[in-house]
Amino acid sequence: MGEPIPFNDLTLQHAPLRAALEAAIGRVLDDNAYIQGPHVQRFEEAFAERLGVAHCIGCSSGTAALVLALEAVGVRPGDDVITTAHTFFAGPEAILALGARPVFVDVDPRTATLDPAAVEAALTPRTRAILPVHIYGGVCDMDRLAAVAEAAGVPLVEDTAQAHLARWRDGAAGTLGAAGTFSFFPGKNLGALGDAGAVVTNDAALAERMRSMRDHGRLSKYEHGAIGFNHRMDGVQGAVLEVKLRHLDAWTEARREAAARYVEALAPRGIAVVETLPEAVHAYHLFVVRVPRRDAVQRVLQAAGIASGVHYPVPCHRQPALANMAQPSLPVTERLADEVLSLPLFPGITAAQQARVVDALSAAVDAVSAAPQADAVPG
Ligand SMILES: *Cc1c(COP(=O)(O)O)cnc(C)c1O
Repeated sequence: MGEPIPFNDLTLQHAPLRAALEAAIGRVLDDNAYIQGPHVQRFEEAFAERLGVAHCIGCSSGTAALVLALEAVGVRPGDDVITTAHTFFAGPEAILALGARPVFVDVDPRTATLDPAAVEAALTPRTRAILPVHIYGGVCDMDRLAAVAEAAGVPLVEDTAQAHLARWRDGAAGTLGAAGTFSFFPGKNLGALGDAGAVVTNDAALAERMRSMRDHGRLSKYEHGAIGFNHRMDGVQGAVLEVKLRHLDAWTEARREAAARYVEALAPRGIAVVETLPEAVHAYHLFVVRVPRRDAVQRVLQAAGIASGVHYPVPCHRQPALANMAQPSLPVTERLADEVLSLPLFPGITAAQQARVVDALSAAVDAVSAAPQADAVPG
């Protein structure tokens, strides 16, 4: 067994930037600009420019971004928001935090993204918004979702927490609906040194509402026009993100190259990969395969020194927190939850490491399928 292979390695990303990051943090100290301020504003401008969108509103997390965006498009208590259960819990949580109800619909089995036909079938007069998630960095079918949303007169809010610089045709993911939300959690494709997030939009009125709501609904220092909250971004995070943003294109390209190596190496082994649509350019936050008896396969991989992840084993509609609400059965989502396995993927992963991952995965799948039952597999 060689050196263990980690799932992600942020040291590789931060070591070459150490001096630049320390200098950026130093500038925040020099300026005493700890909350929002010029460093956050410069990052907002740079991120908006890179995405080709008019407005970026920095905030405290991807979850805060979801709350801000959904509130701004008009989600209120008693409303419904149609979304996916094959995601991190923050989306449904943001909907519920606004007093609205997540209406979960199933996903496309090939791409694991929201199925536009299922969204259309779930529309009712109570539907106030649609929240697609570009899960793993793969983009939802935005042509069909936009058509469904427009016909219904309902805004689309894109959860782009995993899809920085992903594209649908010529447009950046996150800029294709009414608003797009981003997370800069440290392990995301663009990560802060703590929690941070942002919303982007081309709608000036939405932008103004979100800028106010992230800061206690302020109209001015002592005037509060609405009940907002403290969703502000720290100056340190803005300064750090401004430095790291300059590398995001190169890091994203490295992810795409590594993903292409996996796709090529896995095809002859007969291991299924979560696919992406031809109109989309993937951001590869995660590289996800589908394997039967996933938990046993993961244990065998772990024993071989290869880290992996599961995104996500418990779909949102099956979360204990939602057990008091009637939930639909979502067969594709439930099957994905049992089968998905995320392989090590990060800028700087080597072709040799990836070859070991593929060999070990292939051997693990064979060993597990040969065993009479999953529990009999050592590991
Ligand atoms: C990470 C993530 C979030 C939440 O972002 P935080 O910054 O951790 O609050 C929301 N949605 C998805 C799909 C995510 O992956």
